[in-house]
Amino acid sequence: MAVRRNKRITVVILVGVFLVLAVCFVLRTKQGSLWPAARIELDSGYHEVMGTFARAVVVAMDKETAQKCTRAALEQIEMVDDLMSDYKQDSQISRVNRDAFKQPVKVDKDTFEVLQKSIEFSALSGGAFDVTVGPLVDLWRCAAEANSAPTEAELQRAHATVGYEKLILDANDLTVRFSVEAMRLDLGAIAKGYAIDKAVAAMQTAGAIGGMVDIGGDIRCFGAPPPGKDRWLIGLQDPGKTGDLLGAAEPLLVLKLTNAAIATSGDYRRFALIQGKKYSHIIDVGTGGAGSELSSVTIISGSATDADALATAVSVMGARKGLALIEKLPRTEAILIPSPRHKFFKTSGAEKYIEY
Ligand code: AMP
Ligand code: MG
Repeated sequence: MAVRRNKRITVVILVGVFLVLAVCFVLRTKQGSLWPAARIELDSGYHEVMGTFARAVVVAMDKETAQKCTRAALEQIEMVDDLMSDYKQDSQISRVNRDAFKQPVKVDKDTFEVLQKSIEFSALSGGAFDVTVGPLVDLWRCAAEANSAPTEAELQRAHATVGYEKLILDANDLTVRFSVEAMRLDLGAIAKGYAIDKAVAAMQTAGAIGGMVDIGGDIRCFGAPPPGKDRWLIGLQDPGKTGDLLGAAEPLLVLKLTNAAIATSGDYRRFALIQGKKYSHIIDVGTGGAGSELSSVTIISGSATDADALATAVSVMGARKGLALIEKLPRTEAILIPSPRHKFFKTSGAEKYIEY
């Protein structure tokens, strides 16, 4: 009898606690004050880096912490660029591109981690995502400068030096090796996402209670939104209305993000014109061709690295295969805008991120 009475008392207490918590939650949500009212916001403004513009917005409890956070975020982005740019002759990736066929090249932990992740995404996407795409990127860049599409022979020659299975990583001594001469890595499809994740981690360590990092339109938000707001809202650009370089055009959709990242790949802002025909900067490694049936691919994920790599992968895979891949991945959604524009496809869970 006593046991049954104790049980009843426990149930009554639990129900009581639950009701109190539920009332508190409703009240706080109504007031929009889940976050400390005294928080402040600091915007770093746009900085030119990684061939684009980067910006960190910090939410913190005081100005000094906020300044420390924006500095830490921008330092991390510069650090990733210094390691992984293939434009900077003294970057680790440039060194790998010069020497990795002759001998294994030692790289640091961050570069190695990005290469490991790259191989994972190559396998996951059936080779649609491939950071060994460098020779094909160079070929199409030269073709654009000469205003003449590459010949079949040129495409075949470049193709022979491309393929993630030709990239050999040794996790014991953090070295990278090429199994074929004239290979070239290009981390343009993943390094921005990785830099965003590093910047967010640095801001959190430095004391931010919330923030947003934007590199070239790839964005991750976390924690407390700016004062006066109850969530982070991010505009998704309409590929039909490109606006200026910083994307200041009317958005097609506004997304609400909580501790999530978005990355967009597409041919609407970066492309080459060869004899009046538009070619995407994203290359289908299978065919060597530059182009995509999709104008814009946006991926929402917990990690900016993953979102960045997957956005490029889905651009190559196309709508049908791309949506099927993203549907399989946990906590990952896609919004695809096919050419020519306007109607969009999305994965089954994407709706919850759409504010309007
Ligand atoms: P994103 O804007 O993230 O889609 O990255 C595009 C950049 O990644 C291009 O400018 C190339 O430097 C590189 N790239 C092109 N095609 C591929 C591909 N199939 N896989 C990985 N990287 C690629
Ligand atoms: Mg990408």
